[in-house]
Amino acid sequence: MEGMIALVEFIERYSNLFVLTGAGCSTDSGIPDYRDAAGEWKRQQPITYQRFVADEWARKRYWARSLVGFQRLQHARPNDAHRSLADLEHRGRVTQLVTQNVDGLHQAAGSQNVIDLHGRIDTVRCLGCGRRSSRHALQLELEQRNPDFAALDAGKAPDGDADLEHMAFGTFDVPPCARCGGLLKPDVVFFGEGVPPDRVQRAMDAIDLSDAMLVVGSSLMVYSGFRFVKAMADAGKPIAAINLGRTRADELLTLKIADRCATALRVFCQRPGGAPDKARPIAIRA
Ligand SMILES: [Zn+2]
Repeated sequence: MEGMIALVEFIERYSNLFVLTGAGCSTDSGIPDYRDAAGEWKRQQPITYQRFVADEWARKRYWARSLVGFQRLQHARPNDAHRSLADLEHRGRVTQLVTQNVDGLHQAAGSQNVIDLHGRIDTVRCLGCGRRSSRHALQLELEQRNPDFAALDAGKAPDGDADLEHMAFGTFDVPPCARCGGLLKPDVVFFGEGVPPDRVQRAMDAIDLSDAMLVVGSSLMVYSGFRFVKAMADAGKPIAAINLGRTRADELLTLKIADRCATALRVFCQRPGGAPDKARPIAIRA
C-alpha cells in the first residue's frame, strides 16, 4: 500500500513521463512472459534471427508453433495496465510510450504515441524484397496448407507445445513471398537482430523531452530496453518501475513497485468497467 501511494505521487509529480513497457504489461491479457522473477528464462530461449534464416527445419518449427500461438493471440484484449497508460496519455501526461511487446495491445487500448521497439506480430515482412503484409492473411493461408496443425488446441498446454512435440515439423508448409519468392518473417526483432536505429533515435529524442521514466513490466534484461533506463539515469532524471521480479536496473531506480502491472496502474484507469480480461494461455514465443 505504501508503494502504491508512492507510485501515485510519482506519476502526479512528473507531468512528462517516458513510459517503457515489457512482457509483464501483457501477462494479464493472457500472454505469457519469457522470464521468471529472477530474470532467468522460463522456457527454452527463443529462436535467433541467424537460425531462422539458415535452418529450414527450425523455421518450419517456428511457423508451426506460431500458427497455433497466433490463433490465441488474435483474441487477446488489453487489460487495465494498457487502459491506464492510454488514459494517462489522453490526460497529456505521457511524452512517449515505447514498448518491447509485439502484441499491439497498447494501440488496441487507445494509446496513439507508441513506438513498437521490437515490431509487430500482426505484420509479416519479406526478407527478399522488404514487402510488408498482413499476418492475418498469412494465418489463413497457413491454416489451409496445414490443416493438422491448425486443428491443435493451444489452450491445452501452458505454452501450446505439448501436442506439437508429437508432430513432424518437416512437413509444415510455409508459402514464400507472393511477389519475389523470398523468405517471409514476422516483422518482429528476433534475438540476434538489431532494433532499427530510427526507432531508437525517436525514443532517445523523447527522453530529452521527458522529466521522468516509468518502466512497466520489464526485467530490462535485454539491452534494447535497458539503454533507455541508462540514458534517463545518466541525465539525472528519476525512474520508477513496476515489475514482479528483479530488474537489471534495480540500483538505478527511484521507486520500485513489486506488483502486477494491471493492479498497480488500475487507479489511473478512467473508464468504467475496466476489469482485467480473463487470463488465457497463449503461445507466442519464437
Ligand atoms: Zn518478397
